[in-house]
Amino acid sequence: MFDSLSDRLGGVFDRLRGRGALTEADVRTAMREVRVALLEADVALPVARQFVDKVTEEAVGQNVLRSVTPGQQVVKIVNDALVEMLGADASELDLSVTPPAVVMMVGLQGSGKTTTTAKIAKRLAAGVGGRDRKKVLMASLDVNRPNAQEQLATLGTQVEVATLPIVPGQQPVDIARRALQAAKLQGYDVLMLDTAGRLHVDQALMDEMKAVAEIATPQEILLVVDSLTGQDAVNVAQNFSEQVPLTGVVLTRMDGDARGGAALSMRAVTGKPIKFAGTGEKMDALEAFHPSRVAGRILG
Ligand code: GDP
Repeated sequence: MFDSLSDRLGGVFDRLRGRGALTEADVRTAMREVRVALLEADVALPVARQFVDKVTEEAVGQNVLRSVTPGQQVVKIVNDALVEMLGADASELDLSVTPPAVVMMVGLQGSGKTTTTAKIAKRLAAGVGGRDRKKVLMASLDVNRPNAQEQLATLGTQVEVATLPIVPGQQPVDIARRALQAAKLQGYDVLMLDTAGRLHVDQALMDEMKAVAEIATPQEILLVVDSLTGQDAVNVAQNFSEQVPLTGVVLTRMDGDARGGAALSMRAVTGKPIKFAGTGEKMDALEAFHPSRVAGRILG
């Protein structure tokens, strides 16, 4: 993850730190290199431009260049700007409501939505990160893809999280209603709804998603997108957020994404925080997305 960006930035910063004094021209040269590095990592052009302008302005505008360690100060400014770009105030799931809290999962087909639903359920059930263990129920509303409901049931068995019994022929809104009823009656803390995937942003399915959201009034609507699709992932997020009030994004396949462009641009372009990163096919391959840690990883 972020390997080549990290290498490129490391080189730029070593050169900056290596000098005792820095001129404005040194900073501008370094920032041109940062801009190229960001674009090579597939960061959206306006985001890269804005980032570099902000850092340059801060670095040449303050007393940074006259300080004892100007190189280090510039690196700190870059770090802070990176944390902000990644969404400094990002939070994990907000489930602080009278139970059951509903988490609705949406996304394109093949993005990793069903897998991620089970991963998050497992995490909540286990109380990862010192949180209370939650009693979780999962339900698949995907009546389009054959065996989608069975796939979630199989994953449920694997992660030891309950799934709503399948009633053949039932439609998504009715399944959502039944799931909510079951979660209330059986004292579940969290209900996770895995909605039908889409091949692309298709109106009938968008309408179905809105109808489900109206019934289930989710606290969290998480969009699952494949980080390997780069800026397309950001465009998909933009499209979805125009249709439903997303509370966050989960980026999957970060394990195979050497560039990281989607992760770097998502917040700035869509305004939506990345809440989790999928890092593999296994059920525990999910990390909470912490902007400061990610920035730390990038800047080494
Ligand atoms: P859905 O159609 O969106 O529900 O997608 P699935 O959950 O069925 O996932 C499609 C494939 O992607 C499966 O083979 C998953 O194991 C795989 N997958 C999901 N998330 C990740 C991830 O973070 N990393 C990797 N390497 N594979 C993933």
